[in-house]
Amino acid sequence: MAHLEEVEGIVISVRKHRERDFLVKIFTDRYGKMMFFVRGTKNPNNKLKRAIQLFSHGTYIADIRDQGLSFLRDAKDIAPYSQVQLDIFKNAYATYACGLADAALVDRVPDFNLFTQLKEGLNLMDELEEPEVILNILEIRFLRYFGVMPELRGCVICGKTEGAFDYSSKFHGLLCPEHYFEDERRYHANPKAIHFIRLFSVISFDKIGTISISEQTKKDIRYVIDMLYEELVGLKLKSKRFIDHMHEWDGVLKRPEE
Ligand SMILES: [Zn+2]
Repeated sequence: MAHLEEVEGIVISVRKHRERDFLVKIFTDRYGKMMFFVRGTKNPNNKLKRAIQLFSHGTYIADIRDQGLSFLRDAKDIAPYSQVQLDIFKNAYATYACGLADAALVDRVPDFNLFTQLKEGLNLMDELEEPEVILNILEIRFLRYFGVMPELRGCVICGKTEGAFDYSSKFHGLLCPEHYFEDERRYHANPKAIHFIRLFSVISFDKIGTISISEQTKKDIRYVIDMLYEELVGLKLKSKRFIDHMHEWDGVLKRPEE
């Protein structure tokens, strides 16, 4: 059975198929992620062409099939995340964020909450100078969708919610200094990094502009999130390796301090 539907969606991947056709994966608000087949056309003014660019967002008129590929008939109100499309760094962060959202959820399973988080995250990556922090926030929140959200509200032993914390794999959550001794193999992470990771798990996106994080703390946050993902999620996406190497060039490209 097929039926035409208007769905809000974000293009999270595009693959060329044969000469002119495309396979486009769209994360939709009501149907979850779905693969759509878009037949190519010789007409360069084809409105769909713009609508199926990676990191486009808008309303898609879709022929949703219960099985196999679905089809796009038309699109409207297309608003691309244009900075994300143009800027190689933003592009890399957005690619990884979409890859994680894709991995965290099975196709055709609607999840409006995950859809909204990704949408708001991409919006901010597009607008703000520091897309890395937005990625970090999404990474922490997506742990829930991978079914491995650690206890970040406070110490897992005494429940304390203020002060310095460290992360313990043994307890799948935080330890306060009084209970560090419970796990010698805790992360020994920078307490500031843990502070921000706790904040990222609860902060609303409209408050992001007020956060300021030093370069060293950013590196320490990256370190903790990488450890969490390696241990709890075990996913190795190509787009993440790209980000890791991007930081190496970043160092190479920067001029030495004068
Ligand atoms: Zn404690």
